[in-house]
Amino acid sequence: MICENLSVSSDGILLFGGANTVDMIKKYGSPLYLMDERRLRHNCRVYVDSMKKYFGDDALPLYASKANSFKQIYRIVASEGMGTDVVSSGELYTAKSAGFPLEKAYFHSNNKTDADIEYAIDCGIGYFVADNEEEICAIDHFAVKKGITQKILIRLTPGIDPHTYEAVATGKVDSKFGSAIVTGEAERVTKIALSKKNIELCGFHCHVGSQVFDSDVYLAAAEIMLSFVADMKKNYGFETKQLNLGGGYGVRYTEKDPVIDIAENIKLVAETLKKLCEKLDIDLPAIRMEPGRSIVADAGLTLYTAGSVKRIPEYKNYVSVDGGMPDNPRYALYQSSYTVLLANKMNEKSDFLCSVVGRCCESGDILQENVYLPSSVTRGDIVAVLTTGAYNYSMASNYNRIPRLPTIMVNGNEDYVAVRRESFEDITRNDM
Ligand SMILES: *Cc1c(COP(=O)(O)O)cnc(C)c1O
Repeated sequence: MICENLSVSSDGILLFGGANTVDMIKKYGSPLYLMDERRLRHNCRVYVDSMKKYFGDDALPLYASKANSFKQIYRIVASEGMGTDVVSSGELYTAKSAGFPLEKAYFHSNNKTDADIEYAIDCGIGYFVADNEEEICAIDHFAVKKGITQKILIRLTPGIDPHTYEAVATGKVDSKFGSAIVTGEAERVTKIALSKKNIELCGFHCHVGSQVFDSDVYLAAAEIMLSFVADMKKNYGFETKQLNLGGGYGVRYTEKDPVIDIAENIKLVAETLKKLCEKLDIDLPAIRMEPGRSIVADAGLTLYTAGSVKRIPEYKNYVSVDGGMPDNPRYALYQSSYTVLLANKMNEKSDFLCSVVGRCCESGDILQENVYLPSSVTRGDIVAVLTTGAYNYSMASNYNRIPRLPTIMVNGNEDYVAVRRESFEDITRNDM
């Protein structure tokens, strides 16, 4: 199986984090997101432990919470000692409501509104990651107004193509994110930040993309960032305290995706950075990384109940489920691969080629094409889509007025509701 927290019971039921998936549907209804708390904590510990080990005690991984944002997840990552990234006031509000230590929170996004900036300062956000000049000025304006000094990092684009999907590549010069190093914009913006009395520039950030498997990409980005750090020291005497290398490590959606040893990768990046620092005659800044997907993706899966099974001889077969693009828009957005299993028939041979589709009035409402399921698949069977812990719930909608799914957390022998199922009252709450 693609993740070690998956197994099969003797009677052919898919187990996730030890929990019986069919029992979960009986207990909590269908469809639902399942999360494995032990796997989630394990993924956090890989980052916390290896960053401290290889970069030193001042290193800190930040959970990029846009991957999956709800109160309990902030509590869990906080208890594992991680910081967090937020990209909107809504995520910040959720973190704050969960009691997250906001001095360890970083506010991202390429366009923070004035309301975002003011709200985040009022909440006591640790850092803004400023995207450009306008934002630095806006943050300074509110810092002056409130009589505080606000810590920031500046987001830079190192000019790297991470060999991933175009839609998730963010580190190239022509990206909508950040200020480019090669055009001179990064240096110009740094000077502006240094001139603001109510801003404390702590360092720089880059994020090259998502679902990245190639460690060379990180090494290349780190090298470009560090030579910029050295230039800023040389030109302005500026000591970079923090260097944030972003997120992006890939996860296994299917057997075809490689396994990444994250600890080994972090070790490699650390060795390279330390050598470069010596060469450039600078101190190693405190390192931040911002994993999102690789913290939550394989800690989650989605369970559905099969409905119509449509066989169109010589053309195509369809298996429809009781969810779809409202709970997982990623296939519709960028044809993401997923592994789909029939959770209650794991001992049967899978030789029935089909498309697994959602229930919405939209032909693009597809979860996955070219899937093999057991040919006995029928109404009432339980369909599992694996590795849905990232960018599913956080991207979910109410299209067709379908209520959002609950998130059920399993933790060894226990299971509990972390996000309850939306009701029809929830959906109509704001209708006048
Ligand atoms: C999305 C994002 C991340 C997380 O990326 P993953 O691929 O989920 O690890 C980290 N940093 C920034 C700035 C992001 O936009």
